[in-house]
Amino acid sequence: MTTSAQLFERACRHIPGGVNSPVRAFKGLERPPVFMERAQGAYLFDVEGKRYVDYVGSWGPMITGHADPEVLGAVRERLDSGLSFGTPTAIETTMADLICEMIPSIEMVRMVNSGTEATMSAIRLARGYTGRDKIVKFEGNYHGHSDSLLVKAGSGALTHGEPSSPGVPAALAEHTVTLSYNDPDAVEQCFEEIGDQVACIIVEPVAGNMNCIPPQPGFLETLRRVCDRHESVLIFDEVMTGFRVAMGGAQAHYGVEPDLTCLGKIVGGGMPVGAFGGRRGIMENISPLGPVYQAGTLAGNPLAMAAGIALLTKLREPGFHDALSQRVETLCHGLQERADAAGIDMITQQAGGMFGVFFTGQSRVDNFAQATACDGDAFRRFFASMLEQGVYMAPSAFEAGFMSSAHAPEDIQLTLDAAEVAFAAMRQ
Ligand code: PLP
Repeated sequence: MTTSAQLFERACRHIPGGVNSPVRAFKGLERPPVFMERAQGAYLFDVEGKRYVDYVGSWGPMITGHADPEVLGAVRERLDSGLSFGTPTAIETTMADLICEMIPSIEMVRMVNSGTEATMSAIRLARGYTGRDKIVKFEGNYHGHSDSLLVKAGSGALTHGEPSSPGVPAALAEHTVTLSYNDPDAVEQCFEEIGDQVACIIVEPVAGNMNCIPPQPGFLETLRRVCDRHESVLIFDEVMTGFRVAMGGAQAHYGVEPDLTCLGKIVGGGMPVGAFGGRRGIMENISPLGPVYQAGTLAGNPLAMAAGIALLTKLREPGFHDALSQRVETLCHGLQERADAAGIDMITQQAGGMFGVFFTGQSRVDNFAQATACDGDAFRRFFASMLEQGVYMAPSAFEAGFMSSAHAPEDIQLTLDAAEVAFAAMRQ
């Protein structure tokens, strides 16, 4: 049997760091990553045959569990018709109609191949539409790896200690203003000073790339207000939260409408898909209607559309998100009870189908400074023990956890039993 350690050693020969996305490398966890072979429902199975209850869900898309038969069936059905045509297809219109129906602030939408493309294109559109260069983002928010956005970012960039990357030209980075998340006063002050130069604010409406940090009441409302006042574009990056926090995304959950929305992950059902869309008057500036250029050889790929449509259709079943949210609540409550009983300083935070576990004595974590002040060593010990016991949590203290509708009460119970063992070991 080939082990994960052997596969990792081989992978490192020709793949930088052995991985095609940095956070998969388990950096800082003092062990090689686990190589997975297959997945089904709530479970991942590694190359050594071990089963894990999975709370990563391919970093978000697998909201109904892995290898969902309806999603796979939809892809199989399209497969024999060919993989890609480079022409318009009817299925792209079906997808656009569905997105606009599920997220009413989106009146027009363009499909792309990743979340990074979605945010990068939305930023270009906002700049083209307003004729301004500056963008405002928040420390620890991650919007993919395009130049303008890889400044004080979260996710793998943060895990690897490089929130701002070499290779991003200083001349470009200087147009990116970074403020503290959940600090409406800082936003007001920034706009008082340079509001008329700001093309857009881009924000994760629930921050999921510095663990899981919901917006404080009034924060998103402030963003909406200053954008209206200064005619800047408000962009919600709902690559993670879209269709997860609620059917209509975080904007439906918190009742604040952006001008543009970026989507990814769930919208592709596990295939490489992103999308950006919003108000008609802004979207009409995208080529070929308008002058702002954006394109993609494989954008709107029929197999990817089939997977995404099948998944989105399932999420429209009444009560889906309430049930998912309830499961996350059960997990978070159970974890809290067990940490308290063991005397471990830990809190959980939740937004619908996503959650975070923070090792801290604080009662809340609201921003980057608080997230990075949490106990990294406690996280490492917790993660290692859970993995050992067959529970796959995100391999970084700066990533949110994801639940799927395939997680049964037994899976949650197994997770809580494992956490009890982990907390007891952490006390020693
Ligand atoms: N935006 C957010 C909020 C994300 O969480 C991510 C990825 O995790 C991205 C953008 C980038 O998406 P992708 O990795 O598909 O390029």
